[in-house]
Amino acid sequence: MTLFEKIVAREIPADILHEDDLCIAFRDIAPQAPVHVLVVPKRPLPRVAEARPGDEPLLGHLLLTASRLAAGLGIAESGFRVVINNGRDGGESVPHLHVHVLGGRPLEWPPG
Ligand code: AMP
Repeated sequence: MTLFEKIVAREIPADILHEDDLCIAFRDIAPQAPVHVLVVPKRPLPRVAEARPGDEPLLGHLLLTASRLAAGLGIAESGFRVVINNGRDGGESVPHLHVHVLGGRPLEWPPG
């Protein structure tokens, strides 16, 4: 079981903001911005590079959920960033796909 599957199963506590048939969203344990939420598919797809054409609806759902959460958390107007880290150089540390939603402060570009 991945770390995030354990959150889905309520084996590890998390500050859960949203849950539906396909995904769960909770606050990142080490927030990098005033708002830092992870949107995670319940199915443990390891990373976006492993996604297949059949995953299109799931990937779209994750993005729409990220956008709705940003609106609900009051950062849609000020702006926010959606990030998917993939693989070693991408900074991935948990091998279970997750979409970061970051906002509540100006975010720099390019990333480090
Ligand atoms: P990444 O580096 O893109 O794989 O992102 C993994 C994220 O998961 C990091 O931002 C971590 O802070 C976060 N994280 C790790 N463990 C937990 C946890 N138990 N609850 C919430 N977020 C977590």
